[in-house]
Amino acid sequence: MRETTNNSASVTTLARENVQRLTPYQSARRLGGNGDVWLNANEYPLAPTFELTAQTFNRYPECQPVEVIRRYAAYAGVQPEQVLVCRGADESIELLIRAFCVPGKDAILYCPPTYGMYSVSAETFGVEGRTVMAKEDWQLDLPAIEQALDGVKLVYVCSPNNPTGNLINPDDIRSLLETTRGKAIVAVDEAYIEFCPQATVAGWLKDYPHLAILRTLSKAFALAGLRCGFTLANAELIEVLMKVIAPYPLSTPVADIAAQALSEQGLSAMRQRVADVTNNRQWLRQQLEQCDCVEQVFSSESNYLLARFTAASSVFKSLWDQGIILRDQNKQPGLSGCLRITIGTRQECQRVVDALRPLPGAKSSVRVPFVNDSSVNNNSASKEPM
Ligand SMILES: *Cc1c(COP(=O)(O)O)cnc(C)c1O
Repeated sequence: MRETTNNSASVTTLARENVQRLTPYQSARRLGGNGDVWLNANEYPLAPTFELTAQTFNRYPECQPVEVIRRYAAYAGVQPEQVLVCRGADESIELLIRAFCVPGKDAILYCPPTYGMYSVSAETFGVEGRTVMAKEDWQLDLPAIEQALDGVKLVYVCSPNNPTGNLINPDDIRSLLETTRGKAIVAVDEAYIEFCPQATVAGWLKDYPHLAILRTLSKAFALAGLRCGFTLANAELIEVLMKVIAPYPLSTPVADIAAQALSEQGLSAMRQRVADVTNNRQWLRQQLEQCDCVEQVFSSESNYLLARFTAASSVFKSLWDQGIILRDQNKQPGLSGCLRITIGTRQECQRVVDALRPLPGAKSSVRVPFVNDSSVNNNSASKEPM
């Protein structure tokens, strides 16, 4: 890092204190790496192609492009007035905080280990991020959540959860919606719902005015670079979000491509992708279970697998050096020794397996030679690989 003059005139010290303290989201792109197998951001490994149909770049775009809204509503099984389109699900996370939480007064609540942007967005706005650890099976700890709801305006529930891959028990989401009625918004993050479409809670909107559902084109639709996501909620909640959204959140090309991705043809391509990913995930899971360095592979309803390794950081480093970039989850609460692997093409999955196979496990790892006399010299013992 370059030296900055640390005197009182530094612009950093002019920034809001919570911003000065803020550690920005460690996105896969920011973390870098020099790989040819990118399995750290839950992207789809291949790029769909599009051609622009609109060239009216002299004009401002529609704030809520009608065709995108119409098609997404039809796809999600909701009414157009129950859909807000924005710049990725990350913007949905942020809009909810901006619309519902007073800095220094209200809090959001979420259950680690989970997606990192809930806390980053809250910190950015100076809103308290309260946490209630998930239970050992990574389900909601409902009694503890109930105890912690005082002052909470917004609860984020990620299902399937990133990075653990499990669905949250629907009965628990319902209980949470009952407890929070009239008090807080429950935002169910369904970024990966295309990989388990039967699990969506979109059908519950009629019962819960305080339910918001977050969706994205970044995962199963293979459009992470497009930056397009959705909030599903009842019209009253959507109207509130419309007050705080930017006047032109989506550029003309984004709306154009999003509409194409949501055509009949786009939807069937997405469903084929989901089938391929699911196949590869099942294959990779079986292969991982046969690797010595893998302790446990968790079941997943999404496009990634979380696994616990006997020596996660050296596994991570070893694959990194071979150009295979995974996501290190070791620092997340409850996830020591865990790495997250995005499901890539079959060849990419094969590369992962080929790299993991030779790595030692706990049982086969190097043992210190039995030392009972001076005939074993320390020098040779210290040359054993670690
Ligand atoms: C990827 C992801 C998002 C962000 O999606 P974008 O539409 O790309 O902003 C939101 N939530 C979860 C759980 C994710 O994994």
